[in-house]
Amino acid sequence: MRFETAAIHVGQEPEEKTGAIVVPIFQTATYAQPAIGQHKGYEYSRTHNPTRKALEQCLAALEGGKYGLGFASGMAAITTSMSLLKKGDHVISSDDVYGGTYRVFERIFRDFGLDFTFVDTSDLANVVAAVKPNTRMLWLETPTNPLLKVVDLRGAVELARKHNMMTVVDNTFASPYFQRPLEFGIDIVVHSTTKFLGGHSDVVGGAAVLSDDKIFERLSFAQNAMGAIPGPFDCWLVLRGLKTLAVRMRQHEANARAIAEFLHQHKRVQSVLYPGLPSFKYHERAKKQMSGFGSLISFYLDGSESQARKVCAATKVFSLAESLGGVESLIEHPGLMTHASIPTELRESRGITGNFIRLSVGIEHIDDLIADLDMALKSA
Ligand SMILES: *Cc1c(COP(=O)(O)O)cnc(C)c1O
Repeated sequence: MRFETAAIHVGQEPEEKTGAIVVPIFQTATYAQPAIGQHKGYEYSRTHNPTRKALEQCLAALEGGKYGLGFASGMAAITTSMSLLKKGDHVISSDDVYGGTYRVFERIFRDFGLDFTFVDTSDLANVVAAVKPNTRMLWLETPTNPLLKVVDLRGAVELARKHNMMTVVDNTFASPYFQRPLEFGIDIVVHSTTKFLGGHSDVVGGAAVLSDDKIFERLSFAQNAMGAIPGPFDCWLVLRGLKTLAVRMRQHEANARAIAEFLHQHKRVQSVLYPGLPSFKYHERAKKQMSGFGSLISFYLDGSESQARKVCAATKVFSLAESLGGVESLIEHPGLMTHASIPTELRESRGITGNFIRLSVGIEHIDDLIADLDMALKSA
């Protein structure tokens, strides 16, 4: 079954009793049992819920995995995944990760006895140099946030297998429509379904998808034991979003390509980071492992931090907001917003400077988006 069809049908057969074409919201905490020890696969909604199950099956199909697990947020999926490790284990992570991922690793899990090394994983030599005898996990984001570096997935898997590391890819930026890390041998894919999968900026959710039976056993145990599960209504909203994922991603990308080209030739812009731009450092690598380039674009304004603040404040169609992946276009200043939790010196050394701006390109009409950016850039 092809992607577009799976998004609409997997896990979503018409409901048995009534024929309802849409998976119902099973807003229930518990299930009546005909006798002690007998049930229909559902005992308690932290453990199993039919709406969540539909979402989990659909997500698994879209990522090309055997199993899907729903979580209350992207951070809940990430936090629960860390329960696969034990005190004393070492993790090598992309340095350019989601700010909240960096924060939970450094400020929570370090206190639980896990050790982290953050390196630029777009060059795998940095990963090799960071390997320790106790390294157990390689945590990757690709494209990265917000610098949009692309990590060589095939190379990363080869390396991780050699050193006996579990591999995790946060696939939020690309979405399974453009990139399916499990097909390269990655062990676990995690998502913030808040972003492209939900797609409408109206729900916070997360997921993990994987194929390995043993890891699934441990992670689904942790999902139930730790309890960071999504409610039925939130699962339903993400399921509804998934149905249009393919058409949305195509339009997101068409708009993003046009905007990247527009910014690339704009006098007020120093440089543009977008995997779809032929001149971008990681374009060739992206082409090899992605079927499209997504709709996140970062750029350096030819100007100061205060001018960058002005650009962010001046747009009318692009809303000034954190988050990404919704139908509406957003603009933000990573240094002052999404990545403010990274210490200033470290952040600036990585290239997240005062004149750096990130866009999440939505699916509005391209003419309105370009006119809006042009106006904002000229006003600063
Ligand atoms: C948003 C995001 C997260 C966190 O997800 P929440 O749903 O906000 O908890 C993790 N990784 C990436 C890449 C994200 O964009």
